[in-house]
Amino acid sequence: MKSVVLPKTNQSGYYEMRLESIGGLGANLCGKMLGELGIRYLGLNSASFSSYGSEKTGTPVKGYIRYCDAEKEIRVHSPIVEPHLLCIFHEALLQDRSVLNGCCSETTVVLNTEKTAQEIVDNYFSGEKGRVQAAGVCTIPAQRIAMESHARVNVVMLGAVVAACGFGSLDAVQQICKDTLGKKYPESLEANLEGIQRGYQELQKMEFEADSSHEEIEQRDKKESQWGYETAPIGGINPHLGSSVISDLSASRQGYIPIFRPEKCINCALCDSTCPDMVFQFEKGIYKDREMMVNKGLDYYHCKGCLRCVDVCPTGALVRGIEAECEHKEHFLPNKDLLRKPDYYEKSGADGYITSESYLTLERVEGGEV
Ligand code: SF4
Ligand code: SF4
Repeated sequence: MKSVVLPKTNQSGYYEMRLESIGGLGANLCGKMLGELGIRYLGLNSASFSSYGSEKTGTPVKGYIRYCDAEKEIRVHSPIVEPHLLCIFHEALLQDRSVLNGCCSETTVVLNTEKTAQEIVDNYFSGEKGRVQAAGVCTIPAQRIAMESHARVNVVMLGAVVAACGFGSLDAVQQICKDTLGKKYPESLEANLEGIQRGYQELQKMEFEADSSHEEIEQRDKKESQWGYETAPIGGINPHLGSSVISDLSASRQGYIPIFRPEKCINCALCDSTCPDMVFQFEKGIYKDREMMVNKGLDYYHCKGCLRCVDVCPTGALVRGIEAECEHKEHFLPNKDLLRKPDYYEKSGADGYITSESYLTLERVEGGEV
C-alpha cells in the first residue's frame, strides 16, 4: 500500500488530533475509526485512545489520535496537548475555554455548529472572550446532517475530520465505516455512509490570521481553567459545593428538548421526580383555587434532553420539541435556588452555581447567619 504523506508533524515526528466531546456523541468510536483508517488504508502507523469520566451521557470525553510514518514506532502514549487538528463535537463545549487549550498556529479546528466559520472566528477566536491562535477554522452542521441522513453525529464528524486534515480520501473513510459498522449495524450502514459523505463534502473552511498577541491570553486561559500541581486545592478536593449543578448540560442534548405547555399541566410533579438534573422549577402558587407548588418552567441549562419527563407526563403538558426550532426557549426559568454569577450565566451558560442547601451549610459552618 502506498503511504500518504503527512502534511506536518511535531518535533517527535507525529501528526496529532484531539477530539473534544461529551458522552453519547460517539467520539470514542470516531477516534478508533480514525486510528484504524491510518493503519489499514493510509499506510501510516497510528494509535488512538480516549479518556472519559463516569460514562454517563453528557460527561466530557476526549479522544486522542497519533499518526506517523509506517516504519516509525509510536512510543508516546500521553494525552495530546498541542494538536494539529482539534475536533469539537458540539459548539456548547466552547463555553468552557479549556477545550481550546493547546491551539497554536499549527492547529486546524473543526467544529460542529450551524454557524459559519467567520461567525465562529468572531465569537470565539478574536472576539471579546480573547484571541486564540489557529491555522484555520472549519465548521460543519453535523447535528442537522445526522438528523437529515439518519446517521450518527460521530460519522458526520469523521467525514469532516478527514476532509479537514487533508490526507485521507472519502473512499478510504467510507471503507473503514463499512469495516467497523457494516457487520454490526448493517441496517444503518447506508445512512452512515451518506453522513460521512456529507460531512466530507459540506465542510466549510476558513484560513485564520495568526495573531501575535494570543500567547498572553492563552496563558491566562490556561491558568484560569486548569488545575495543576500549583493550583489544585489541598487534598485534591473539589471545592465547588453542589458541583453537579454547576454543570451546563446543554451540550448533552442531541437535538431534542422538552417543551412545556402550562395550560395542560396539573402540577402532579411526576416530571420533577423523574428528571435527574433539577430542571423543573416549582414555586408556591395557586392551582384550581388552592395554594400549592406549581410548575413554573424549566432551567434548560441542566437539561440533557433525555425526554424522560415527556414520557411520564400524564397530560401532554410536556412534549418533544426540536431544539433548533426553539431559539428562544419559552418557559425557560433559571433556578432561583442556585447562587450564580449573573452575567456569566446569561452569556455562557451555567457556572459558579451552588445549591441553596449547600450554600446554607457553608454559611453555618463559617458562622454566618442563615
Ligand atoms: S408531569 Fe406533566 S402534568 Fe405533571 S407537573 Fe410535570 S408537566 Fe405538569
Ligand atoms: S429531558 Fe426532561 S427529564 Fe431529561 S433532563 Fe431534560 S427536563 Fe430532565
